[in-house]
Amino acid sequence: MIVVMNNGANRQDIDQVLDRLQSLGFKIHLSEGVERTIIGAIGDKTILNEVALEAMPGVEKVVPILQPYKLVSREFKEHSVVKVGDLEFGGKALHVMAGPCAVESREQLLETAESVAKSGATVLRGGAFKPRTSPYAFQGMEEEGLKLLAEAREKTGLKIVTEVVDPRNVELVARYSDILQIGARNMQNFFLLKEVANIDKPVVLKRGQSATVEEWLMAAEYLMAGGNYNVILCERGIRTFETFLRNTLDLSAVPVAKNLSHLPVIVDPSHATGKWQYVKPMAMAAIAAGADGLLIEVHPNPAQALCDGPQSLNPENFDSLMNDIRKMAAIMDRSV
Ligand code: PEP
Ligand code: MN
Repeated sequence: MIVVMNNGANRQDIDQVLDRLQSLGFKIHLSEGVERTIIGAIGDKTILNEVALEAMPGVEKVVPILQPYKLVSREFKEHSVVKVGDLEFGGKALHVMAGPCAVESREQLLETAESVAKSGATVLRGGAFKPRTSPYAFQGMEEEGLKLLAEAREKTGLKIVTEVVDPRNVELVARYSDILQIGARNMQNFFLLKEVANIDKPVVLKRGQSATVEEWLMAAEYLMAGGNYNVILCERGIRTFETFLRNTLDLSAVPVAKNLSHLPVIVDPSHATGKWQYVKPMAMAAIAAGADGLLIEVHPNPAQALCDGPQSLNPENFDSLMNDIRKMAAIMDRSV
């Protein structure tokens, strides 16, 4: 439930309510807005009938949150802006995360980083841990790859997003990156979610390829319930009966997730389509649907890529995508 304090509530009123809730065993999540304070309280709501919270000084109303996701819900908070250094996700500016599927070499990464930065990306992506469908396929450069990402940040000023796949590596990945990515296959890896919840770094949470919107939001709830409020949702396509493309981009999930939650939502048209030719049209559609940013795979030489070459844009096509995105952003009263 949420306890909405009235405009006139002072510090002492708020502290009294917090003390009361904590003494009853509720877990507290405080949202201190400019106008009013909202207290999210997670716990056994049957006890509430015995404590007249609404009679306490400064309390305007007590509202149960009906959805299974509480902290993620828009009832708890109107809108969240997730800050990554000086970048704001969920503000007026759209942010494009771009880079190779996997970090393959120093040359490949630095060349990509420099070109995507020049085209207007603000975040560099690149996988260092790449468990693949086949155990015989390239598995990623691991810590060596993380070091290269950090070097690319030094050289270009881009922020770094990279995937963490193993709860044992969360601290290691967080040491080198600005944003942690939880991949589609791990969206319901609850042990991983709990570890990432303990880290003070923003998270891109990809939607599982077979997850409903509600399951996706429940995964975000794990992160927030564990104390990490800086969650960026990422729609990356789901499995449907249609097999022509790698996945089916569920664009309607963008306005739906933004309606049900207060979190920023970005779209990954690369994994959604699996074919580079369709990345730009779906990127344009994502911005039109209200996405707060994009995640795009770019490789200097897609034909030689060790991973996801068919869906990777070359630098020239990425530059063209950025130019078109700027026009679409302007229509949506956003900027890139
Ligand atoms: C990725 O972004 O590198 C990736 C593996 O994506 P997904 O988890 O969406 O398949
Ligand atoms: Mn990929």
